[in-house]
Amino acid sequence: MSERYDVVIVGAGPAGLSAARAAAGQGARVAIIDDNPRAGGQVWRQGPRYPAQAPLRTLMDTLAPDGHVAWWQSSRVVAPLAGGELLIESEQHGGVRVSYGRLILATGARERLLPFPGWTLPGVTGAGGLQALIKGGVPVRGERIVIAGSGPLLLAALATARHAGADVLAVIEQASASALARFALSLTRTPSKLVQAAMLTRGFAGLRYWTGSVVREASGAGHVEQVTIRRGERELTLACDRVACGYGLEPNGLLGESLGCAVAARGDGRALAVDDLQRTSVEHVFAAGECTGVGGMELARVEGSIAGLAAVDAALAARARFAERARWRRFAANVDAAFALGEAARAVPPDDTLLCRCEDVTIGAVRAHANWRDAKLQTRCGMGACQGRICATAARTFFGWGTGAGVAQAVPRPPLQPAQIATLIEAAADS
Ligand SMILES: Cc1cc2nc3c(=O)[nH]c(=O)nc-3n(C[C@H](O)[C@H](O)[C@H](O)COP(=O)(O)OP(=O)(O)OC[C@H]3O[C@@H](n4cnc5c(N)ncnc54)[C@H](O)[C@@H]3O)c2cc1C
Repeated sequence: MSERYDVVIVGAGPAGLSAARAAAGQGARVAIIDDNPRAGGQVWRQGPRYPAQAPLRTLMDTLAPDGHVAWWQSSRVVAPLAGGELLIESEQHGGVRVSYGRLILATGARERLLPFPGWTLPGVTGAGGLQALIKGGVPVRGERIVIAGSGPLLLAALATARHAGADVLAVIEQASASALARFALSLTRTPSKLVQAAMLTRGFAGLRYWTGSVVREASGAGHVEQVTIRRGERELTLACDRVACGYGLEPNGLLGESLGCAVAARGDGRALAVDDLQRTSVEHVFAAGECTGVGGMELARVEGSIAGLAAVDAALAARARFAERARWRRFAANVDAAFALGEAARAVPPDDTLLCRCEDVTIGAVRAHANWRDAKLQTRCGMGACQGRICATAARTFFGWGTGAGVAQAVPRPPLQPAQIATLIEAAADS
């Protein structure tokens, strides 16, 4: 089966949906592909008890009536094919080839998990991971939860966990109190963010919010039972039922990289490089939202609109949004500066800590090698089900591999995600 569209958008978060609205508004025939059953991406994730939020409903209402937008939900792109085609594995249609005149990548970001002893115990997740679990229906009422890591996502996780009836014992933030104070001051330039912060931290009084602190270890018999925290020179232990620990986000540029799009170093990580009109280095391929750098929902939305307009050659209308984008990029730069990972968060854990949980490879086994490629070839780290999404990022953070000059190394090879044989056969059908 093969389908053709003027514009194909991968990702139905704020960036992808805004791109779809902008391109469809100009009369283009558009398809949105997303691996979730419902639209919204990460920030507007829907679930059994989490209906579509107002901004998502508004976007979806404006997309639905014009008939120009095809919605491929529960469908993931497993490989780019030659000749402007993508190989999709869809829950409804199986293996499908979708071809595009223009492609917009809006594949978002994933959480940065940094291993510590006990991080693979049941009950230990990322902070955004905890949020996704709760929105997906996992009950946490009455559970004692410690939220840790770094960044504004910790506060979003706090609000979601509290709303679901959890007893959040503490929020452990690696950034210093002075960095956070400067950040809080900078929020006066974006009043909507100030209001959002106030909403998320309602009832904050009495909660332990420890800055300059990191999780050292989680332990328990078969499930996490306690967590040890390093706070300055002191170590403290809290008894708990869950630990949700994530050190910010990492752009998800995998599909773009496999298409050959150039990447750029962004803060601690790497992101798809784009020009003013959100064009990547590959002709007819655009990128928007957090796959081009982590910057929050507002930036993702405006970048999506620009990409959608530019993709249908409405450059003038796209340029009218540059000022708004610049404003949200400044906000993103403030977030980056405030929550930059400090020494304590980057400290390499003990050698017997697992780095690659798919292939059971320890920190010690990996650090014995000169670079990520050698470590991968000698130890199988990064070769399991997640294909290095977690451990390659952690290795880069701990050992500095793949940053700076090495940013363009290792192009990901398809299939980008585990796929059925029937899907792969579809790729070869007419080629
Ligand atoms: C786990 C997590 C939770 C978050 N929670 C919040 C929050 O509560 N509040 C907040 O302000 N920000 C949150 N964020 C930050 C959030 O990512 C952004 O601010 C915003 O959602 C970015 O929008 P986007 O459109 O760039 O990407 P996203 O919203 O991430 O959307 C990208 C979409 O692309 C899909 N996708 C990726 N690759 C493929 C593929 N190969 N095939 C098909 N589909 C694909 C993804 O499943 C996703 O639905 C969270 C981030 C993460 C990682």
